[in-house]
Amino acid sequence: MFFDFSKKIQKALSEFKNYSKVSESNIDSTLKEIRRVLVSADVNFKVAKEIVEEIKNEIVGQKILSSISPKEKFIQLLSNKLTSLMGGKSSEIIFIGNPSVILLCGLQGVGKTTFAIKLAHYLKKNGRNPLVAACDIYRPAAIEQLKILGEKNNIDVYHENSNDVFKIAKNALAEAKLKNKTVLIIDTAGRLSIDEKMMQEIVQLKNDLSPSEIIYTVDASVGQSAVETAEQFKEKVDFSGIVLTKLDGDSKGGAAFSIHYITGKPIKFISTGEKIDDIEKFHPDRMTNRILGMGDVASLVEKIESAFSKEEEKKLNKKIQNNSLNFDDFMKQLSVIKKLGSMKNILSMVPGLSSKLEGQNFDESILNKYKYAIQSMTPFERRNPKVINNSRILRISKGSALSVEEVKDLLDKFEKMQVTMKRMQKSNSWFL
Ligand code: GDP
Repeated sequence: MFFDFSKKIQKALSEFKNYSKVSESNIDSTLKEIRRVLVSADVNFKVAKEIVEEIKNEIVGQKILSSISPKEKFIQLLSNKLTSLMGGKSSEIIFIGNPSVILLCGLQGVGKTTFAIKLAHYLKKNGRNPLVAACDIYRPAAIEQLKILGEKNNIDVYHENSNDVFKIAKNALAEAKLKNKTVLIIDTAGRLSIDEKMMQEIVQLKNDLSPSEIIYTVDASVGQSAVETAEQFKEKVDFSGIVLTKLDGDSKGGAAFSIHYITGKPIKFISTGEKIDDIEKFHPDRMTNRILGMGDVASLVEKIESAFSKEEEKKLNKKIQNNSLNFDDFMKQLSVIKKLGSMKNILSMVPGLSSKLEGQNFDESILNKYKYAIQSMTPFERRNPKVINNSRILRISKGSALSVEEVKDLLDKFEKMQVTMKRMQKSNSWFL
C-alpha cells in the first residue's frame, strides 16, 4: 500500500538527525524532501506546501519534551498533518430508514460491483441483513458477476431481466421490505468517463430511493484524475462518502491524500484486494501509520509518557548507562508493560515491527511467569543477577513452579534486554 511513497517518506525521515534543538537550517532539507515526496504522490502542490510550512512553524525553536526527540516530534507533526488531510477521524456509515439504502456510484471498472458484495458481507458480519440490487444494466457481465458473487458468499442479490433501471430499483426496494432486509445496496452503472446520462440516472435513483448513503467508488491506483472525476460527481450527485479501491496495488497515494481535501467528504472504506474480506473501515490515523511505516508512534509515545513518571525515566536511564539494571527494575518494567495493553498491540505500535507481526501470536502468560520467577528470587539475587548460578536457578524454579528452562530463559532475556537498552540509548534511536 503506497509502497513507493512510504519508502521515500521513510528515507527522508531517516536522514533527519536527532538534533538536540530544531532550527530552520537543520530541518530545511528534510522539509523540502517531504514536500517533494508529497507532490510526487499527487498531493496538490499548495497543500504540500501548507503541510510543510505548518510543521516548520510548529517545530522550529520549540522546546521538546525530554522523552521525545526532535525527530519523533517531527514524525508526530507530519503524522497529524497527513491524518487531518485524510479527514482526521474515521466516519461511520449512516443508516436511515428500513431498509437503509446505500447507492454506489463511480466510473466503470473502479470496483463498484466487487465492493457491493464486500460491503454486504461486511454489514452482514456486523449484524445487518443486506440485499444487493443489480442496477448496472448496461454491462451484462455486472449482473452475472453479482449473481455469482452473491451465491458464492451467501448474499441475497436482486436482479431482473429489464432495461428499466428505475423499475428494477423500486422493485428491489419492495423486495427488501418484503424480506425484512435492513440494508439495500444498489450497484449502479459506470462509464469509462463521465457522461450526462449516467449522472442523470444516479440523480433520479437518488430522488426515487432517498438513500442514507451515496458512496462514490474510486480506484486509488488511478491517482489525481480520480480526484478530478470526484469533483464532478460531487457537483451533480453530492455523494456522502467515499470508498478507495485497489489499495493493494501500486497506488501512489494521491487519491487518498487529496480526495477528502478536495471534496470535503469522508473516506468510509478501503478495498484492498479481490477477496470478499478485503474491505476495511477507513481510519485516517491508521492509514498514516502504515504510510509512515511507523506502527503507531503517537499513541505509543503517549502511552509510555503516561505510564512512566519523569523521575522513573531518569533513574532508569542512569541505570542503563551504568550497566546496573537489576530484577527489581525488570519487575517495574513488567508492571508498566502490563499497563500499556496487550503485547501484540504494543509491539505493533513499534516502528518497523507492525508488518512483521502479521499472523504472529504472543503468549501473554509469559509476563506472569517472569513475575513468579522474580518473586522467587532473594532480594540479594534481584539486585545482583550475576550471582544466579545453577543451584540458585534450581531453587527459583521450585519456588515459582516454573521449569529450569523457563527460569534460564528469563535470565537470558534479561541479559539481552540490558544489551539492547544500552545500544538503543547509545544510538538514541528508539524510532526508525
Ligand atoms: P465496476 O465496473 O466498478 O463494477 O468494477 P468491478 O467490481 O467489476 O471491478 C473491476 C475489476 O477490478 C475486477 O477485476 C475486480 O476483481 C477488480 N477489483 C475490484 N476491487 C479491487 C481491489 O480492491 N483490489 C484489486 N486488486 N482488484 C479489485
